[in-house]
Amino acid sequence: MEQEEKENKQQFYQYIEKAKQWFFDAIKKSKKPIRIISHFDADGITSAAILIKTLDRLNIEYVVSIVEQLDAENIKTFSEQDFDVFIFSDLGSGPIDTIIKEFSKNKVLVLDHHKPKQNFKFNENIFHVNPHLFGIDGNSQISGAGVCFLFSNSIDKNNKDLSVLSLIGAIGDMQENNGFKGLNKDILEIAENNKLIKVKKAIKLFGVQTRPLHKMLQYSSVQIPELNTESDAIQFLKSIGIEPLKDGKWKRFIDLTEKEKERLATAIIIKRMNSNIKSPEDIFGYNYTLENEKQGTIFRDIREFSTLLNACGRMNRSSIGLGSCLGYEEERKKALRVYKEYKREIANALRWTEENKDKLIVKDNIMVINAEDNILHTIAGTIASIVSKSRKDIKFIISMARRDDSKTKVSIRSVDEDARDIIKQIIDEIGVGETGGHKNAAGAIIPTEKEKEFVTKTFEIIKNNRLTK
Ligand code: C5P
Ligand code: C5P
Ligand code: ZN
Repeated sequence: MEQEEKENKQQFYQYIEKAKQWFFDAIKKSKKPIRIISHFDADGITSAAILIKTLDRLNIEYVVSIVEQLDAENIKTFSEQDFDVFIFSDLGSGPIDTIIKEFSKNKVLVLDHHKPKQNFKFNENIFHVNPHLFGIDGNSQISGAGVCFLFSNSIDKNNKDLSVLSLIGAIGDMQENNGFKGLNKDILEIAENNKLIKVKKAIKLFGVQTRPLHKMLQYSSVQIPELNTESDAIQFLKSIGIEPLKDGKWKRFIDLTEKEKERLATAIIIKRMNSNIKSPEDIFGYNYTLENEKQGTIFRDIREFSTLLNACGRMNRSSIGLGSCLGYEEERKKALRVYKEYKREIANALRWTEENKDKLIVKDNIMVINAEDNILHTIAGTIASIVSKSRKDIKFIISMARRDDSKTKVSIRSVDEDARDIIKQIIDEIGVGETGGHKNAAGAIIPTEKEKEFVTKTFEIIKNNRLTK
């Protein structure tokens, strides 16, 4: 098994070398800028940032667009634009057949990690780089930005600084699970060896650089008994001799001394033991700190950074996210404002689901939230993620929100079944719509009039699948 994994990786690396050769041949014959098209989430934005930096360093011009998704329509539009060489990053593999069909005259490089519809590798016009083509799982072992980084690193070994961007992308795509795996792990090693990132085991908390400690505890995914409100958290800290305030400001995790961090961990474990929680000591994860970023900023922690980028993408401000990756201070200031708006949107959406429980369908461990016009369609996926993490009894969640073109965005998060597979079956049955995604997270765009049918089919198909298992 290990040997096979090694060989797959080796072949993938060799294939990327080949992609590089193909790419340089393609651009040699062109005088036009390169057309980059990337996805609008953290992984897509970091993918674009890696490509931009790489091309900048080669003095090659480019034009970038960040899109919510690729469909037959926009693929056709892009193909008609006046460029010779196109790069699709963090997307393109899903609709690879449409790309092959539409781009018969241009050169297209696809750098993606979504499971491809077909095992096409390359022809004269199209070069398709995807880990799945080499038996490597793109769902858990490498992100779109990771593929872009390997490409960039094959062009110039001085591009190693871009490794951290790809880890931000990978964590945004949920590929960090008590550590990175596979190619992500190799990339992490590169980043560590070049002193770009520091990995440290710590209590699993989100917001170590920027959020008040007591708030982090209150909202932590680590279960801490008897700690529900803000004042519970403050009392808890005081009871173990940690003063939550310093000079009138709330302390963050990074403000604690090493001794205090240890004391906090021990106190949480004891609290969990006393409540008979299973594996009480299971509270640790990893923090990834970007050593070159300023202490106490969102940009220093890759989890926080990726959340910020996701916010930019989903609030339709991808360019601000891109600017933040490239290190522009003005853009970073704007990004922080977008992040605030995004949090407000999510809070509103969660409040809506809370207040409209009667509109939710819950059956057979499946939950359907049809928010219609009440939440932003771009955050339907985020809501599905949050609900799926907070409701252990729900194994399959569908959230729907309407766009302004008579279409509805559907987001799926699944624990056990293959979401990508199921949503494809549903779309095949209802006859219209675009789909794609991964095993645990997938989505679709359907005509709004098909919402009801979509839901009915979902229940039918999952039920059938479960019966035949
Ligand atoms: O298109 P892409 O794969 O980059 O989109 C990833 C999205 O899917 C992210 O928003 C992430 O939250 C979600 N996701 C997930 N669980 C996974 C993989 C992705 O929730 N295992
Ligand atoms: O938007 P959301 O986070 O729910 O997307 C989950 C996954 O499904 C992502 O990987 C996204 O790229 C994919 N997706 C897709 N086609 C759609 C909708 C979502 O490939 N129409
Ligand atoms: Zn991705």
